[in-house]
This record gives sequence, structure tokens and C-alpha cells, in this order.
Amino acid sequence: MDDLTIARLTTRQADFNARLDQLLAWESVSDKKVNQIVDEILDAVKQQGDAAVVEYTNRFDRTVASTMSQLELSSDRLKQALDGLPTEQRAALEQAAVRIRQYHEKQKSDSWQYTEADGTMLGQKVTPMDRVGLYVPGGKAAYPSSVLMNAIPAHVAGVQEIIMVVPTPGGELNELVLAAASLAGVDRVFTIGGAQAVAALAYGTESVPKVDKIVGPGNIFVATAKRAVFGAVGIDMIAGPSEILVICDGKTDPDWVAMDLFSQAEHDEDAQPILITPDADYIEQVEASIRKLLPTMERREIIEVSLRNRAALIHVNDMDEAIEVSNRIAPEHLELSVDNPEALLPSIRHAGAIFMGRYTAEALGDYCAGPNHVLPTSGTARFSSPLGVYDFQKRSSLIMFSAEGASETGKIASVLARGESLTAHARSAEYRIKSDT
Ligand code: NAD
Repeated sequence: MDDLTIARLTTRQADFNARLDQLLAWESVSDKKVNQIVDEILDAVKQQGDAAVVEYTNRFDRTVASTMSQLELSSDRLKQALDGLPTEQRAALEQAAVRIRQYHEKQKSDSWQYTEADGTMLGQKVTPMDRVGLYVPGGKAAYPSSVLMNAIPAHVAGVQEIIMVVPTPGGELNELVLAAASLAGVDRVFTIGGAQAVAALAYGTESVPKVDKIVGPGNIFVATAKRAVFGAVGIDMIAGPSEILVICDGKTDPDWVAMDLFSQAEHDEDAQPILITPDADYIEQVEASIRKLLPTMERREIIEVSLRNRAALIHVNDMDEAIEVSNRIAPEHLELSVDNPEALLPSIRHAGAIFMGRYTAEALGDYCAGPNHVLPTSGTARFSSPLGVYDFQKRSSLIMFSAEGASETGKIASVLARGESLTAHARSAEYRIKSDT
């Protein structure tokens, strides 16, 4: 720890932009060896179905199953997990589920239509997906909050069937994960993981039904497999390591900010914690808090690697510059640890989730604030959004012409189609043009 160096940057440095780019560089799924392993697994599951899934599960998760039925949990088993939880855990899980459901109810979009003067009707029909697959990681840790964050929006959207997969290394089940599945309305659970689980959901096997979309985070094997099956099925996103960016005016207790930075660093050695402040002394204070608090953390080894390799304490001239740098980074989680965060909001253009004010710890968002914790990482907040109900709904366009409308609009189509030399298009429209107009 004594030799821990955390990168310090200042916008006054001539090479600030280059240093920032270097710090942000992250190749998400690029490992050739992993690609090769994943391709083999996907092919085997496509060809051999259940048998390949069972074999890979036994190999990678140290299980001893001989059939897929041994790798499926009944809904009674899920309910039993929920009923067996200690009272405090059950209450916390239920309260989180209520808050997440309430928030996501607001995201539901409805079908709409309008009628033009000649009776022509146009509109949009919103339909939930039939069946989705939810990947819950389980290799190194268990994530009951991920079950709620993925399954509840699907349920609110009206998805007919939610299939969950979760690896159980050594066959060990996590009761909180199963309880969360029961609470969130998951229909079927298979204790499988990795690329073989993604393949089973994407292609279908004798036991695992083929889904329309696969959502949920996972390690590099899961991410690589999701990218490879995209097209056969939909996917939510390819999530990179967690990120937190705190913009602080220098007036928040430095221990709070240090702990907020740790809260994402403890997820992963590659996680990226960044502080931006116009107060140079505050950088010293936060660094002192980091050094004081790090030895007290259970996951200090992981946090230390993240701080050493990917963290930065950035000094800027003023708040405007802080926001400019933040917009360039487009962080997954952005904390505005200032007196009046609402004043900054209009200038913030890119962030997965914005945590406003000194009291809003990002950790609350991870579990129970209500908004989704599945967020765009690695700068992708420039063009994408948090997981939500809209990810489980699709839209169909509605078009119904009256005879009069077909005649009038047909004239436009005819001209454009003839301009493209598409005669069938033109004549199809022209048949419907009234001769007396
Ligand atoms: P995981 O479920 O993603 O992966 C475990 C599976 O990986 C195993 O079942 C196995 O099939 C496969 N695997 C492991 N080694 C393999 C090998 N050598 N060859 C082929 N397959 C192999 O669980 P994990 O490993 O604990 O990773 C979870 C990831 O999810 C972490 O990176 C974590 O940061 C991330 N995560 C992200 C969020 C988020 O919201 N962004 C939330 C929770 C977890």
C-alpha cells in the first residue's frame, strides 16, 4: 500500500487530453484465445444441445450432472428460498423490488394512433417480447440485485416468459439469488453459466427454450458469447468494468468521496474510479482518506489494483471545466457532490446515471433507489441508455389508408417509385388512385 501511486492529472498540463485518453483506453472483448474457446462452445451446443451444455457445465462449474433436468430448479424451490430467508434480508429484498418496480412502471410506453382528415389511420403498436433470457453471473460472486434489475423491467414490460441462467460453481446454490428470482417473477431457472448458457438461450436445446433476447452482465466468456450470438437473438449491451466519476466542489467529507470511489473499485481490478475537483487541496484530503480507509476494506486487494491502474484524481480550473471533462468521459455513474446539483444538470450530456447531491451515494443506486443499475460503460453513454422496460418492448408501425387517402398518397408514391424504376411499386400504388381525381 505504501507504494500505491494514484494518477494525478490537471487540465493545465499540455498533454492532458493524451493522458486522459490513455487512462480511459479499454478493450472490452478482444481476446483471440477466448474467441476461439467461445466459438467451440457455441458450435457444440448448437450441434449437440443439452449433452454439450451438461458436459461444459460439469467441466467449468465442477458439477456432476448427467441430464439437464438436474440443472433446472422448480418454482417451488425458488419459493422455498424466498420463504427461508432471514426476516431482515427478505424485507430488504422486498423493499428494493417495490422501489425498482415503481420506477420502471413509469417507463412503460403505450401504443398510439391518429386519424387524418380523409380517414387514414397511422400509429405505433407496442408489444412485449415473447421470451427473454436473463444471465445472472455466479462464477466468483452472487448478484441478487442483478436478478431484480433485469427481471423486473422485463416483467413490467409484459414479457410472457422469463428464463434465468445462473452458474453454481461446485453445485452451490445462492438462496438470495433464488429468492430474488421468485420475487421478480422469473418463470424458469437453469443452473448453467458461461458461453454454454448463452448458446442454450440463443439456439435452444431439448430442455432450454430459445429466447428472443439475452440480457445481463457476465465475465469475458459471457460477453464474447453474447456478441457472437447477436443477430440470432437480441442482446442488451456488452458491459465493461464498472466506473464512477465524482465531481466535487471540495466541501464533501473526503471520507465519503473516498468510500464512493471504493464502492465501484471493489467490483473489479479493472474498475475505474475518478475524482474531478477545482480544489487542489481537496485532492490531497481525498488521497489521505483513501490511504487511511483502504486497509479497513475487505476487498482491499481488488480496490488497490483498480486505484493503481485505472483511477485518477483530476484537478480542473472550475466547475464548467469539470463538466467538460466528465462529458468527454461519459461515465457509467456520475456523482455531483455539490451544493446545487440541479444547476449543473443542463450541461451534463453523457452519463449512465447521475447521482445528485452529497447525500446521494452511488451504492444506493446499485441496490434499491429504483432506477436500473445496468448502465452503459466505457463511454457508451454517448449513444446508449440504462436497461429499462423499453428494452423488452418492440414497436410495430400501423398504417390503414382510406380509399381517398390511398388515392392521394398513391400519387406521391407513384412519382417516387417511377424515379427509382421500381415499376411494381408504382403500379401497386397507381391501381388505388381514383380515376376521377
Ligand atoms: P460469470 O457467471 O460471468 O462466469 C462464470 C462462467 O464462466 C462459468 O460458469 C464458466 O462457464 C465460464 N468460464 C470460466 N472460466 C472459463 C474458461 N476457462 N473457459 C470457458 N469458460 C469459462 O461469473 P464471474 O466470472 O463471477 O463474472 C461476473 C462478471 O460480471 C464480473 O466481471 C462482474 O464485474 C460482472 N458484473 C457486472 C454487473 C453490472 O451490472 N455491470 C453486475 C454484476 C456482475
